[in-house]
Amino acid sequence: MEDKKKRNKRVCSFCGRTEDEVEFLITGLNGCICDQCAEQAHTIVAEATEAKNKAANQFHLDEVPKPMEIKAFLDQYVVGQDDAKRYLSVAVYNHYKRLMQKDSHDDVEIEKSNIIMVGNTGTGKTLLARTIAKLLKVPFTIVDATVLTEAGYVGEDIESILTRLLQVADYDVPAAERGIVFIDEIDKIARKGDNPSITRDVSGEGVQQGLLKLLEGSIVNVPPQGGRKHPDQKYIPVNTKNILFICGGAFDGIERKIAQRLNTHVIGYSSVENADRVDRSNLMQYISPQDLKSFGLIPEIIGRLPILTYLNPLDRTVLRRILTEPKDSIINQYVKLFDMDGIKLTFQPEVFEYIVDEAVQFKLGARGLRSIVETIMMDAMFSLPSEKVTSFEVTVDYSEKQMAKANLSRLENSTN
Ligand code: ADP
Repeated sequence: MEDKKKRNKRVCSFCGRTEDEVEFLITGLNGCICDQCAEQAHTIVAEATEAKNKAANQFHLDEVPKPMEIKAFLDQYVVGQDDAKRYLSVAVYNHYKRLMQKDSHDDVEIEKSNIIMVGNTGTGKTLLARTIAKLLKVPFTIVDATVLTEAGYVGEDIESILTRLLQVADYDVPAAERGIVFIDEIDKIARKGDNPSITRDVSGEGVQQGLLKLLEGSIVNVPPQGGRKHPDQKYIPVNTKNILFICGGAFDGIERKIAQRLNTHVIGYSSVENADRVDRSNLMQYISPQDLKSFGLIPEIIGRLPILTYLNPLDRTVLRRILTEPKDSIINQYVKLFDMDGIKLTFQPEVFEYIVDEAVQFKLGARGLRSIVETIMMDAMFSLPSEKVTSFEVTVDYSEKQMAKANLSRLENSTN
């Protein structure tokens, strides 16, 4: 009886509800659709179209910054390091070009060129990466290679590198697949010693092999929440073919390997003339893939990082410039902090020299600049906001006193 009634009524061909059970039915040639199913269908179509658009090439070459513009942007925040900046600018520009190459009708496929930057700690590798991120139109993340270990050991799986990228891309897989990953401290996964694993090298060669898979371009199952792969977790497959990898590392002691190579080279080819021209104070500029190999990176990894660039050690002049020149320089930051209290903060020019002297003396590099300025400014930052002052000048005399006071209290603390 009930069935008969239903048979006489029009029903939605999608959900089977009768016209009484819905707001209205739209009739087509061979069936009907109810208002709710129509709405649902609309959502599905909208989502699918959005995903398709995202996957398609979004940019036009005239929209993306040219290498020179990228470098000019980097110049505002990072002092010196021209070589690294130029390499990075070109690599990022080419990355965009590669993402657009579907439009081309010939057989030339632009392959990606991952980058490796070598430079002492505190010379601006991470800063370069962070600064470039501000400019990018693709997802970008910084990960640390030190936490990575081979699957089955304490630490994180290699795939977790991509978890971070997925997170910044809001789990939009096609977007993540065009992203850029900066892997910091890549030198920490170098093989220890020249013997290819006699004993198990948990954080060395095995990790490099794992990383190779990512660099080469393959489909990787990524645990969406990071950490260890877990049997119950649903993985998200991510294709790394178009992800650009930028690696950075200090490679402590690599200068010795460079020097060794330069020496043997000079003797071997008897070009003593060249030996004189070698700038011994900055051997990093002569770095070659061979040196990375002697340091303990496997040749396959080196092959997948075809662009090798270096960062210069920071000398006095650069340290002095870092203090005041970048848009968000340490000094500008303090001026702003005081300005918020209505206090005009100024520095005797000699103070900058003094700060650099201290940083050089303590071999703290650019990282030390901040802690020195912090020490000098601590008392003023504590008391001035409660006093009715409108200006404050930092002199060398004042700076010396503040530093001496801090050293004294540190000394007291350590003897207590
Ligand atoms: P790295 O990654 O090479 O160890 P960082 O990029 O973390 O070094 O640099 C540490 C800090 O030193 C940065 O936050 C920045 O304030 C400063 N610094 C280092 N190099 C430069 C530079 N070339 N220009 C401006 N600031 C720099």
